[in-house]
Amino acid sequence: MKLVLATSNKGKVREIKAMCEDFEVIPYSELIEEFEIVEDAETFKDNALLKAHAVFDALGDDDAIVIADDSGISVDALEGDPGIYSARYAGEDANDKDNLHLLMHNIRAKGIESSPAFYTAAIAIVTKDIERTVHGWMYGTALTEAQGDGGFGYDPMFIPLGYDKTLGELDDETKRKLSHRSKALLLAKKVLKTL
Ligand code: IMP
Repeated sequence: MKLVLATSNKGKVREIKAMCEDFEVIPYSELIEEFEIVEDAETFKDNALLKAHAVFDALGDDDAIVIADDSGISVDALEGDPGIYSARYAGEDANDKDNLHLLMHNIRAKGIESSPAFYTAAIAIVTKDIERTVHGWMYGTALTEAQGDGGFGYDPMFIPLGYDKTLGELDDETKRKLSHRSKALLLAKKVLKTL
């Protein structure tokens, strides 16, 4: 089964491909020209649906199965920020490093060195006939110092519950066992089997 991914985020593409070995996974930017998708919904779920529908419509292929991931990190000490704004926390043109450093800075500004935090992933599946969404979460601790350079995004500042190393230090296989995205993808695969 061919799945079109409504993202060109390299970190997400790498992880989703590794977790969906039974499928042919193609980032939409390999099929059509990449375009801007304004993620202005108020939940991970609605942003994932918005991305999946935008790509499905742009493909113009009734047989396409599109999946989109909307995800982010929520920090308790910051009342759940950055949440759905994780990708643009340090501004519209910010990159992963800018966002990571601003988040560590803002936690430090609270006079603390760490805070409970969690990642959320919403995955939307859109075809001509259906739309479905599933979620996954990963709980842990957000730090004010980056450790390791594995993973992507906020991984160097996040220690999963039950571990003493950040996702920047742990290997890809370990993240795959634990992550919000893996948990959501397990459910997404169950939905895909029914198509
Ligand atoms: P989206 O493309 O709007 O879903 O943006 C997701 C944001 O959350 C990006 O800034 C990512 O770097 C961050 N993010 C999502 N999932 C992960 C993850 O597994 N590790 C690290 N950062 C993540």
